[in-house]
Amino acid sequence: MFKPIRRSIYPISLLMLSLCGTTSATGQAVETEAPLDGCLRTLHPEATRAGIAATDFARITAGLQRDDSVLAALDHQPEFRTAIWDYLAGLVDDQRVVDGQARLIAHHDLLSAIEQRYTVPAAVVVAVWGVETDYGRIAGQREVLRSLATLACHGRRQKFFRGELFAAARIVRDGDIAANRLRGSWAGAFGQTQFMPSTFQRVAIDFDGDGRRDLIGSVPDALASTAHYLALAKWQSGLRWGVEVRLPTGFNSKLAGRGNKRPVSDWQAQGVVAADDGTLSRVGERAAILLPAGRNGPAFLVGSNFDALYRYNASENYALAIGHLADRIAGGKPLNTPWPTDDPGLSRVQRRELQTLLIARGHDIGTVDGLLGERSRAAIRIEQEALGWPVDGRAGQRLLARLRALTADAGQPASTE
Ligand code: CA
Repeated sequence: MFKPIRRSIYPISLLMLSLCGTTSATGQAVETEAPLDGCLRTLHPEATRAGIAATDFARITAGLQRDDSVLAALDHQPEFRTAIWDYLAGLVDDQRVVDGQARLIAHHDLLSAIEQRYTVPAAVVVAVWGVETDYGRIAGQREVLRSLATLACHGRRQKFFRGELFAAARIVRDGDIAANRLRGSWAGAFGQTQFMPSTFQRVAIDFDGDGRRDLIGSVPDALASTAHYLALAKWQSGLRWGVEVRLPTGFNSKLAGRGNKRPVSDWQAQGVVAADDGTLSRVGERAAILLPAGRNGPAFLVGSNFDALYRYNASENYALAIGHLADRIAGGKPLNTPWPTDDPGLSRVQRRELQTLLIARGHDIGTVDGLLGERSRAAIRIEQEALGWPVDGRAGQRLLARLRALTADAGQPASTE
């Protein structure tokens, strides 16, 4: 009944948004009065072909104004690649694990029903929820129709975003989600688990039975749709996404890579063992070795379910975050092998503490939100320069410890206040 899932072609998650620093209140583009009506009128024939009549399309998109900040986000280039240990430190922190476990309990009956129908484990669905929107807390506040209309008429990916705009207009037309409630990321992803509108059209489920597929307001709809997505991406019941492994001395790193799947028995014969109990069970018959930080960091044996997670957001690090968070939520332990760095990354609690310290030291970084955006990183650079450290805008445990010490010292002399 459904078309086969195409690989996700755009980094849709809010996670990417936060890494880009575009959520901060800084650098708001000056609001220009720039109606999109003229451009949108030219799209009527294409809209009709995409399943939304010109009259409906015109009504739903009437009066939309260009949003220049969306175009800025489209062209934003991150200043550096986030190291995987920083990426995972923020996504799979103790708070997100504890919150996920609380969701498992609070939504036990719902998650059981979803697992029964789609065969995707509750912890995996909850992990996607946690990573995408912090369990519905941060789902994006931009008007999806306005963002998509802007991107459909301007910028470098207009054809792609036109398709998303038509799909979004159909969501409104069909009464699934009202236009004024359809809010999400700058790229048009919305809801508790951040679906793009075209994904919604292929995958969304009305699981609570109220006649609307409301991925924003209904947790049952959102989580069932997420499980449905993974089921369509060929999630295999009863298998794990993967397992942390120990590699034998002299392992040929050239054999690593998601594309090089081999029979698990081959890896076993080479001396690959699970990092915890040694047994490589329930990964599937064929699996690949992943070395996300090279030979000296943690190694993983990943099966076809890892590929299903990868389809949610085409990034191996993302799939690893979901898989590992799901394991932790289900009671699993942190990774055995440390990441190859002497300056590990910060949890979100620690990021907020770092931001509080930066403010106390006189930096204007906006609000403490746990997202190290551009203003936070500018302040970090100033501190690094003052310390005589390499100036890269990246904060790890070492900088946090140093700023704690400096702030404590500064507070020591008898304050006159
Ligand atoms: Ca519903």
